[in-house]
Amino acid sequence: MTFLDKNNKASDFLHLGNKLLSWYKKNARDLPFRQTKDPYKIWICEIVFQQTRINQGLNHYNNFIQRFPDVQTLAEAEENEVLLYWKGLGYYSRAINIHKAAQQVINDYGGVFPSRYEEILKLKGVGKYTAAAITSICFGGKIPAVDGNFYRVLSRVFADDFDISNSRAFAYFSELATLILPGNVGDFNQAMMDLGSEICKPKNPLCGECPLNEDCLAFSLNKISEFPVKTKKVKSENLHLKYYFVHRNGQFLIQQRKDDFIWKKLFEFPSIIPEELESFNKGVKTVNHKLTHKNLTIEISNIEVTSEPAWKQFIAQNQYLVTDFEGSHEKSFPKPLENYIQNRNQK
Ligand code: SF4
Repeated sequence: MTFLDKNNKASDFLHLGNKLLSWYKKNARDLPFRQTKDPYKIWICEIVFQQTRINQGLNHYNNFIQRFPDVQTLAEAEENEVLLYWKGLGYYSRAINIHKAAQQVINDYGGVFPSRYEEILKLKGVGKYTAAAITSICFGGKIPAVDGNFYRVLSRVFADDFDISNSRAFAYFSELATLILPGNVGDFNQAMMDLGSEICKPKNPLCGECPLNEDCLAFSLNKISEFPVKTKKVKSENLHLKYYFVHRNGQFLIQQRKDDFIWKKLFEFPSIIPEELESFNKGVKTVNHKLTHKNLTIEISNIEVTSEPAWKQFIAQNQYLVTDFEGSHEKSFPKPLENYIQNRNQK
């Protein structure tokens, strides 16, 4: 039975939220986006750190904000440049959406970042978590920004066995969060983020240092490893990709991806070549790469075209771009192809 089912008349748990706020005041991490309430910067930071750890993404965040300090600059930039500044963060669809959303802010809101939750939700790539974070941190909104940290901390504190893989988990934990929601929801949301990543970690939580340890049911019952409950495992799909690294005298061929399947708008090597070029094959390298719910096996054939006419003919007949190692720095490639280019240059 879940906590909310057992406790129809939920008693006062507000002191938990207030304890968390007092802990946050003393222990908040000193991060650049904590010094601002500029919704543009908070939005960028929320998107950057959705799938990236703070210490891994901090330099990227700073560089991004330095190049695109406001929504106008971002909206006016070329998409390829935005992708370039996203290099290293992965999940490039986030960069494409950020760029489109910046244009929405200019076109639909006269360049002023919207302040209402429902309006922020209309921006491309912005979900309920991000909209709640922006409204609470920047505009005093009262909505908890529920994410995996909330699921983990709340399910442990209340020893609540609601299944987090259930499609109603977001609604359920949002309701549970309201039991402990203090007045300052912006700080509360950030405190939950810090608590979840620094203290109540998925494995080996630091319960001795936790401000909620006196109230935490899972801790007192010694059942922390049982929470959160997750039954459904999403199956990963196995995919096989084939590429040809076609090169001559330090130059190589690339194209920009168009489809929505994976790596949209990133650059890649040709995936089809005429049979005649196969005779220049110097070997094949196989790399494995994981994406969310996808296991990729990527075969890259090294085609060194030693014949000038064959090289020229191939370029003329196809729509490929010619680049070299220096030029490739200006473009964003999927991580495994980026690694392949880097390693080749170091040989
Ligand atoms: S006491 Fe431990 S399990 Fe409970 S909320 Fe704190 S860190 Fe998490």
